Amino acid sequence: MAKVMIIGAGGVGAVVAHKCAQVPEVFEEIVLASRTLSKCDAIAAQLPRPITTAQVDADNVPETVALLKKHRPDLVINVALPYQDLHIMDACLEAGVHYLDTANYEPRDTAKFEYHWQWAYHDDFKKAGLTALLGSGFDPGVTSVFCTYLQKHYVPEIHEIDIIDCNAGNHGQPFATNFNPEINIREVTAKGRYWQEGEWKETDPLSVKAPFTLPEDLGSMNVYLMYHEELESLAKHIKGLKRARFWMSFSDNYLKHLEVLENVGMTRIDPVNYKGVDIVPLQFLKALLPDPASLGPLTKGKTCIGCQVKGLDAEGKPVTYYIYNICDHEACYREVKSQAISYTTGVPAMIGAKMILTGRWQGAGVFNMEQFDPDPFMDALNRHGLPWTVVNKEVFNG
Ligand code: NDP
Repeated sequence: MAKVMIIGAGGVGAVVAHKCAQVPEVFEEIVLASRTLSKCDAIAAQLPRPITTAQVDADNVPETVALLKKHRPDLVINVALPYQDLHIMDACLEAGVHYLDTANYEPRDTAKFEYHWQWAYHDDFKKAGLTALLGSGFDPGVTSVFCTYLQKHYVPEIHEIDIIDCNAGNHGQPFATNFNPEINIREVTAKGRYWQEGEWKETDPLSVKAPFTLPEDLGSMNVYLMYHEELESLAKHIKGLKRARFWMSFSDNYLKHLEVLENVGMTRIDPVNYKGVDIVPLQFLKALLPDPASLGPLTKGKTCIGCQVKGLDAEGKPVTYYIYNICDHEACYREVKSQAISYTTGVPAMIGAKMILTGRWQGAGVFNMEQFDPDPFMDALNRHGLPWTVVNKEVFNG
């Protein structure tokens, strides 16, 4: 039995707190810490058992170290923002605590997410005998585990991966993002990038699209080629990979609003001086948009995130598999008072923590999800609310 500290009391943090509270045999004690204490207390009040809450500015390393030394958790689940990743890793090293996150580090002033900043901590975590697990959400996270599961059981030689993330749900708002608007819009407006034959190919933002028919009668959607961080770690860890791409669905309405906001400069991340005050337009826009946590009771429909993997089976025969999860926004809200985007991120964060704390995933250093045995994680997905399905057919031709 262990003690965990969750840092970040946003949409995802709320789900992680609910899911850890559901597994007392692993998470005996829970501390929820964030910049705004009242948000931690509001989440704590919804949980079936008492937890401890605390205020922390995770960008302040000494403050975070002091909090860690006071509560002595075994592991930190970092579900604050990507800007805090390195600071929280520094604090974990100093306090001797395992680390887990769901999104890789991004500097505030460039919308550029790459693993090298966090991979550079490998030797320090190794020397300290600590585990840092990076990207234990759905994508990144489960998508990498899906790929290694297919590799272990169906496609030992993987040649192509297409990760397809669709949200066939609707919150009824004219424009809103399903997770932190600043992080979401930075990601979506960045150039597309995919891995092919040993090099990165770049495309203009959202310039490549393809139709996709979702499984289980969820309809058809256009999906757009984007860069996503698990492509970098999959290209590093899946030997023999020839192509890896990431696709995400957007409604025409979302794209129309985004185009206008971009055209008028509202998605800029550089400061603009307005009447003597420096304002970052995207941060101001975030203040105007609905808080993603408020979308929970409004969102209906389902998400479908999966991977199509092509390669050779054990006999050397070409095969194509598709593995996916479907998640219902309203069912998530009934269970944990959040929509499916926060749910599909928070559940794998809890499961990743469970893997480390129960010793199913062990290692000193910094690791990505595809470096561990997928089987116990896949079992836990079925048990904790994200069941998956494998089909032996081609479903996507982007
Ligand atoms: P939110 O904006 O809803 O929540 C972030 C929380 O972190 C807020 O409560 C915020 O506090 C807190 N926070 C921000 N800065 C600090 C700080 N310096 N110190 C302490 N707390 C801080 O975001 P989400 O919950 O939607 O997303 C959380 C993370 O999950 C993000 O990193 C996001 O990229 C990642 N994510 C990963 C996905 C995946 O599948 N892998 C999918 C979706 C999200 P305050 O409320 O006071 O502002």
